[in-house]
Amino acid sequence: MNENTNVQGTSAVPRVVVVGLASCFGCQLQITNIEAHLMEVLGQIDLQYWQLASSDPMPEEFDVAVIEGAVTTEESEHLVEELRQKADTIIAIGACATTAGIPGMAAEGFIQRPGSVYDLVPEACGEMISPRAVGSVIDVDYEVRCCPIDAYDFVDVLQRALYGSNKIDSTATMCGSCKRNETGCFYTKGVMCLGLVTRAGCDARCVNLGRPCNGCRGLSPDANLPAAREACRAAGIPVEDFDKALEMFNQTDPALRQA
Ligand code: SF4
Ligand code: SF4
Ligand code: SF4
Repeated sequence: MNENTNVQGTSAVPRVVVVGLASCFGCQLQITNIEAHLMEVLGQIDLQYWQLASSDPMPEEFDVAVIEGAVTTEESEHLVEELRQKADTIIAIGACATTAGIPGMAAEGFIQRPGSVYDLVPEACGEMISPRAVGSVIDVDYEVRCCPIDAYDFVDVLQRALYGSNKIDSTATMCGSCKRNETGCFYTKGVMCLGLVTRAGCDARCVNLGRPCNGCRGLSPDANLPAAREACRAAGIPVEDFDKALEMFNQTDPALRQA
């Protein structure tokens, strides 16, 4: 990702399109939930296409493409390639777009598992392909992680895309947030929490609410999976349960297979 990319200067008011691929549209809904801030942002952009809100066709030219959802068909693969060619800035939002998320769970044994669900795919979508994150198909400039996204994170990232920023996203795991928040650790109670290996950035939102992290921000590049498995053993948590839980948001991450 190029964190210094910005779209100012490419047109008077940046033209934005919002596109949904394989997703539940929950992240786009999150954006609609922040009306006040959205109106502030909308004053700074020319929102030319929003799949969730309009049936108008997508314009030929635009500056920023916001993409929700995983790539699961040949059609969506071609679409993101086209978006990359046309847009100066690509923003992937939500776990489905950034890690393949829940759709990515179908990646394991994809070829060997042509089930009835796949028979229902409209012919116009072309062949189903093994689910993948947008960043596995094209270069992505900015990501907004989580399932669903935090809408204020989206506003922050959109502002960075519009005006440029040298802010560097943390690659650390979640546990530093718990230390800062003084919330204690689930492992001391023998409860599994995927924050141990999950990318920080949500301020350990679920732990703050009394729930273990289920890893929706995806594996941290700093994650030490062998050490995490040791921590599970020490806490009496079956390692198989830990590995299985990680698959929900990391099925397509090669790091999961290597460690
Ligand atoms: S990341 Fe979660 S909320 Fe967002 S589209 Fe995917 S499943 Fe829905
Ligand atoms: S494992 Fe979970 S509860 Fe424990 S410190 Fe890390 S994020 Fe917090
Ligand atoms: S605490 Fe974990 S599951 Fe909860 S929002 Fe953060 S990354 Fe996602």
